[in-house]
Amino acid sequence: MARLARIHAQLIKNKLDGLIVSSQPNIAYLTGFYSSEAILLISPKADIYFTDSRYTDAAEAALTGIARVKNIKGSLGKTLADKCKSLRLAKLGFEEQNITYKTHRTIADALAGYSTLTGTRNLIETYRQIKKAGETAKIKKALNITAKALEYIKGEICPGRTETEVAGELERFIRHAGARGTAFEIIVASGPNSSFPHHRTSSRKIGDNEPVLIDIGVEYCGYNSDLTRVFFLGKMNVLARQIHRIVLKASELAIRTIREGVRASDVDAAARRYIENKGYERFFKHALGHGVGLEVHELPSISAKNTSILKAGMVFTIEPGIYLPGKFGIRHEDMILVTPKGSEVLSGSLNK
Ligand code: ZN
Ligand code: ZN
Repeated sequence: MARLARIHAQLIKNKLDGLIVSSQPNIAYLTGFYSSEAILLISPKADIYFTDSRYTDAAEAALTGIARVKNIKGSLGKTLADKCKSLRLAKLGFEEQNITYKTHRTIADALAGYSTLTGTRNLIETYRQIKKAGETAKIKKALNITAKALEYIKGEICPGRTETEVAGELERFIRHAGARGTAFEIIVASGPNSSFPHHRTSSRKIGDNEPVLIDIGVEYCGYNSDLTRVFFLGKMNVLARQIHRIVLKASELAIRTIREGVRASDVDAAARRYIENKGYERFFKHALGHGVGLEVHELPSISAKNTSILKAGMVFTIEPGIYLPGKFGIRHEDMILVTPKGSEVLSGSLNK
């Protein structure tokens, strides 16, 4: 598989004999096979998928020609160490952000005196940032289902219904529309609850003339979507209308700056500067956006801290928000694809 071959080349560059991959999304990316528990050992000599008896049959069927499957009987550390020794892998990398202390210790103990373990960061995640057409197509499908769900829910939100009821309606809808499930717990934040950026959907009843913020993502064939819209029930007050306009304009200004070669931090700055000019910078506390793909939060981060350059094929959110404590919050979240000449708003159909 081309993806594995690229990592083999990276290992040689990093003077590593092999890499222990413990992030499940990274394993799915490299092998095309999803499970909830596995370790992938990759090396130019052999790629071996370690899993337990719950998954071995399915893994063997899916990984023919991609990786060998090894059933973990007893200790993962010992099974893995035996393989590393037989393959003569003396310098091993591991994913320091994706391994538990316990797993690391088990592996390190079993390899003691034979292999050294070196921490690596984002070796695979860096490649995952650039989406191929097939991946973008799945993201678009996930977005399409999300957009339909948001369209549907407009007619279902009414005063007296609880936030959890609305979330339930959305969840039922997206599964019927072909999504495997939600990408994260749906956020339905009504009235003052919308002033908490990551409000936990509650049993609060939606009131008259209130904003209702909905942040929803779905998973389709392993790929995720992430969108936020605010709906107004009844009359929209003057301040809310004004804030909504500022947030939409900040989003538009940020999206206009996106193209290959631009720094992620410059995109964040475009939205932040506008919100600052309007006097609301202290109410916009989070980063402007994040990558979305096999995980709902992945690279690249669109923030003041990330000065790396955008490349064609990257997919991320643009989600400025202004949160007024005790009153309400407005966030608008779209998903954007970087193209060689600019960008495509993948959730464009929603921006009426
Ligand atoms: Zn979101
Ligand atoms: Zn998001």
